Amino acid sequence: MDEEKKAQFQAELLRLRKEVTEALARKTQDVHGRAGGEALDEADMGNATLSMELELSSRRMLLETLEMIDKALRRIETGTYDTCEICRRKIPLERLQAIPYTSYCVECQAKQEAQRKK
Ligand SMILES: [Zn+2]
Repeated sequence: MDEEKKAQFQAELLRLRKEVTEALARKTQDVHGRAGGEALDEADMGNATLSMELELSSRRMLLETLEMIDKALRRIETGTYDTCEICRRKIPLERLQAIPYTSYCVECQAKQEAQRKK
């Protein structure tokens, strides 16, 4: 991959990183605000717990995405950005453009996801 492309992906990843970090900061505020602030009556409790779980699970997703972005940024620096971590083949450019923080080619990603479901 040439330097110009690398710089483009790096800029895109940094932009995504900022977005995810901001979303995370908002979530953290939300959860704290709700836990400490307004009192809930019995009827609302069920819903509150459910939405709290949703908040936390999407928070976990954001944290995972953040990790992947940081990893991708390191991969750009070490020159392994477009190499699949598992099979060591080149990840197609179109795939990186669609998901700039991926570390796997389509085949390996599918295998990973199939394993997760087990
Ligand atoms: Zn692969």
